[in-house]
Amino acid sequence: MDGIQIMVTLGGIALIAATLWFFFGASTGPGAGKKKFACPMHPWITSDDPAVPCSLCGMPLVRSDELKT
Ligand SMILES: [Zn+2]
Repeated sequence: MDGIQIMVTLGGIALIAATLWFFFGASTGPGAGKKKFACPMHPWITSDDPAVPCSLCGMPLVRSDELKT
């Protein structure tokens, strides 16, 4: 009986871990190919083109994944 309970518990933990991995993996997987650039001072100013400066302060945009530590 105890063995079955341990098996069920481990199965549940594995299922939760797989679900978490799926969601976090999916958020970084397909989106990683898209390079978004954002102003360090105004992160809501974003562009796909790093040559375009921030429209508010004129600072060059940096990769948004570098802003997220
Ligand atoms: Zn700015």
